[in-house]
Amino acid sequence: MLKGKTALVTGSTSGIGLATAQHLASEGCNIVLHGLMPEAEGKALAQSFEQEYKISCMFSDANIKSVEAIKTLLDSAIETFGAIDILVNNAGIQHTENIVDFPEEKYQDIIDINLSSAFYTMKYALPGMQKKGWGRIINIASVHGLVASIDKAAYVASKHGLVGMTKVVAIENAANGVTANAVCPGWVDTPLIGNQIDSIAEQKGISVEEAKVALITAKQPRPEMAKPSEIGALIGFLCSDAAQGITGSAMPIDGGWTAQ
Ligand code: NAD
Repeated sequence: MLKGKTALVTGSTSGIGLATAQHLASEGCNIVLHGLMPEAEGKALAQSFEQEYKISCMFSDANIKSVEAIKTLLDSAIETFGAIDILVNNAGIQHTENIVDFPEEKYQDIIDINLSSAFYTMKYALPGMQKKGWGRIINIASVHGLVASIDKAAYVASKHGLVGMTKVVAIENAANGVTANAVCPGWVDTPLIGNQIDSIAEQKGISVEEAKVALITAKQPRPEMAKPSEIGALIGFLCSDAAQGITGSAMPIDGGWTAQ
């Protein structure tokens, strides 16, 4: 049980982040919900968390492309809850195109949002964890933090970078009671991969359902996507006392993708 701990989950208005926030709230954590959602909807979501899980919850719509916005997010979370005990760097975006045609501003957005934001959230959350002698950092990387695929230069670079940065933070804090791990999912059923499915359907002239199967089985031996709740449950385990010796890992949850 994580009763009384505070968790900041970036990008928790959708997909994996939302499922992670739900899992951690069900274990008794106070939650900082975060994502690009209109403020009124975000506040309503936070209220629904408080009612369902009997915890305290706040919402922030900070755009983590901006370092200033990240500082404000961390300051307001620490002011509200005293500290951040669990930090899940989950917010992320994708764009697929070969490197020659890849728009330069998209490249920069992916590096800023998927990688640099985690540098700043960890930089500002760690002092509180070090002071308490307890903390958990989970960075949502991807199989693309371990291996490559075509058309994903920016995404693969950002996720490999995130895995490397996680290892540094893990060894810098190994004697501080703070663990840092990367989670590396294969396909997960969320809005993030909708565009990739639609473009396969269009290119091959097949249905969206057929395109989904084609996308999954092109790389992943298990012919099904993971559910966001499965990633949330793994993160819950990494936050438990049983996982105190797991640090610096890059843990695949990928249906056998990277076993090949
Ligand atoms: P999603 O699109 O459902 O959710 C993304 C979240 O990030 C949303 O809450 C969104 O508001 C937030 N976000 C995006 N840009 C932001 C910005 N500039 N500022 C603040 N918040 C921002 O995606 P998802 O599939 O749940 O992805 C979550 C993480 O998991 C990402 O880092 C993604 O790379 C990773 N991942 C996803 C899959 C998959 O198959 N879905 C596989 C491996 C890794």
